Amino acid sequence: MRTADEEKIISIGGMHCATCALNIEETLREIPGVKVANVSFASEKANVKYDSNKADQNALKAAIEDLGYKFLGEIDEAQAERKREEELRTIRTLLIMSAVLGSITMVLMISNVLMSSGLSMQLSFFILFLLATPVQFVAGYRFYIGAYRSLLNKKTNMDTLIVLGTSTAWLYSTIVMLSPDSFPNPEVYFDTSAMIITFILAGKYLEAVAKTRASGAIRKLIGLRAKKAVVLKDGKEVEVDSDQVMVGDIVVLRPGDKVPVDGTIVEGTTTLDESMITGESMPVEKGVGTELVGATINKTGYVKFQATKVGRDTMLSQIIKLVEEAQGSKAPIQRIVDKVAGIFVPTVIIISVAVFLFWYLFGASYFGVTGDHLIFSLILFVAVVVIACPCAMGLATPTAIIVGTGRGAELGILIKNAEALEEAGKIQTMVFDKTGTLTIGRPLVTDVIPLKQGIGENDVLSIAASIEKGSEHPIGKAIVLEAESKHFQIPTAEGFETISGKGARAIINGKESILGNRLFLSDAGLLSQSVDRSMSDHETAGKTVVAIAHGGEVIGFIAVADTLKPNARLAIEELKRMGIKSIMITGDNEATAKAIAAQCGIDIVLSQVLPGEKAAKIQELQEQGSIVAMVGDGINDAPALAQANIGIAIGSGTDVAVETGDIIIIRDDLMDVVAAVKLSRRTIQKIRQNLFWAFGYNTAAIPVAAGILFPPFGILLNPIIAAAAMAFSSVSVVTNAALLKRFRPSGR
Ligand code: ADP
Ligand code: MG
Repeated sequence: MRTADEEKIISIGGMHCATCALNIEETLREIPGVKVANVSFASEKANVKYDSNKADQNALKAAIEDLGYKFLGEIDEAQAERKREEELRTIRTLLIMSAVLGSITMVLMISNVLMSSGLSMQLSFFILFLLATPVQFVAGYRFYIGAYRSLLNKKTNMDTLIVLGTSTAWLYSTIVMLSPDSFPNPEVYFDTSAMIITFILAGKYLEAVAKTRASGAIRKLIGLRAKKAVVLKDGKEVEVDSDQVMVGDIVVLRPGDKVPVDGTIVEGTTTLDESMITGESMPVEKGVGTELVGATINKTGYVKFQATKVGRDTMLSQIIKLVEEAQGSKAPIQRIVDKVAGIFVPTVIIISVAVFLFWYLFGASYFGVTGDHLIFSLILFVAVVVIACPCAMGLATPTAIIVGTGRGAELGILIKNAEALEEAGKIQTMVFDKTGTLTIGRPLVTDVIPLKQGIGENDVLSIAASIEKGSEHPIGKAIVLEAESKHFQIPTAEGFETISGKGARAIINGKESILGNRLFLSDAGLLSQSVDRSMSDHETAGKTVVAIAHGGEVIGFIAVADTLKPNARLAIEELKRMGIKSIMITGDNEATAKAIAAQCGIDIVLSQVLPGEKAAKIQELQEQGSIVAMVGDGINDAPALAQANIGIAIGSGTDVAVETGDIIIIRDDLMDVVAAVKLSRRTIQKIRQNLFWAFGYNTAAIPVAAGILFPPFGILLNPIIAAAAMAFSSVSVVTNAALLKRFRPSGR
């Protein structure tokens, strides 16, 4: 049977914490046919890849709904946003309600105003009960539902802890209220239960606000879409919605218009502001035959263009999809966090029960606790349960990934997934392709050198141009360009063929004609010592020399020179400062390669590497124990990009080849490679800080909550303070991640 893999990004509603996401993920993975499932609590989405012969959306839906979550399907960002806003409003209403009732309860209890104004104890307790109970079961309803559902699935989550902690306080207080006489010193803790719920809701609320803000990058990208387009229909200009433009339509652009879809100019010239897509702030000039990208802005001219990509195929849509996928993907570090989070809740429950038993059965009397030992032990139990909620833990990594990839997209640095984002910061060796990556990739002919009596420069050039007429290779293009500028007749060639990394051949006037480097000459048996020496003579100052042979004889050479990209040297220097070793890889000969490498400050050169061997060279470097990135233009170095730990495709400009590379740099600026590494390092740093906050905080606070400071100092952690601290920890983690938005690469 044919396998048909399908990949879907599905929105899920009703997740309360990272363990929810984990539980859904596990369940999805158990569905037969599902190959990959990543669920992100932060983006509230699942990335699922499945074999459509064995599984379908309904199976996913059923599984998600069985767990008690909402299957929202493939919704677009606008819908997702509405859902998020709805959720935000609900939480806010519940929060206000529980904050009001909770604080009244607390004030009444602290001031003891009820009993001192003459009410009986039982009546006072009853009033407090009336205030705290709606908080417990209306505002706290979602926690009960969450805990119940995960219990059904024999799992635990954050809700389990909240329910356990607050219900203990509420239930104990209610029992005391019902029969105060059976307790030696009757006291209630309705403020504890109500305030814990209030604080947790406050944390949830702030977290939801921050989450919306963190996902702002996608919203921004979506906001870039043009709403209207002017299309030519039967010679008339008609305004339509931009999603109605079809491939092949002729679209009219006036100055100031937003380009509605991708296409090619068929009439006119103009300058465009492409900064929203490429991050490049300089306007770009375009004329007939050049490509336009949707969402960019036409500045000066009046042009007509033919739509080539519309709807989901446009570059903007591709970028949105890529960023969305990246934001929902999981960083390797997250797997460790998930493992810990998975055992955290049960462990906490065990610890809290142990704490309770220890103090109740032994500790309280041993350490001379005054008052009711049962109450004392219960309070410690509640404090441990509450403080240990692994909420911040689950947010630490995903929020940083969301903000990091989002910020990257804004800068024209598209990071394909969280793994790439994490790995890029660890790069030790960066291998650069020469032509088109370090150099501009548009070489120009500098010298034409005839070698044979009776043959002039023009003869060499015309034969060379004839061979290369159909060539896509930059050297070929340079030769054809030069010949065309001289306006002489270029003889027609037959049987044109290129030999990757070596040269090209064709038949001209019935004679076998070849053009290429030494490897190619030697393959053809034409590489004599004198030819070799003459080539070397011209291989100075980084020029590339190719030989031309016609009818089995070398007739001359052509030297071409490419210029280094403006920021090449700066980028290599910066990488060196960052401890990254740069290597140049090229199919060009050693002398030329070394000269170019020296110009940009690279010490290690791998020359005369055929395109097919580049991947093997990368592998060699990896086998030497290095984390290797390959930077290329993605044209003939795709295998090397794929082999490297991180493939960085640069300067894809308006033609993003999303399949190539883990990181795609839209602008043709090598400093963005540096920026990508820096962004990655910053993101990892944020993740570490966040994990430290979350883990450090949970683990450091558990012993305090368990009463470890009580024997020496008499210090106990009030469960209400524990709840406040927990809420604060989640918020601080999300806020810290949001700071990544301020990331600014040097020089931009
Ligand atoms: P790079 O590794 O710099 O991208 P390539 O692998 O494309 O370079 O080519 C390596 C060398 O092979 C070139 O420097 C040139 O000498 C020769 N070569 C390959 N194809 C052609 C061609 N079509 N015309 C001229 N020379 C070519
Ligand atoms: Mg190349």
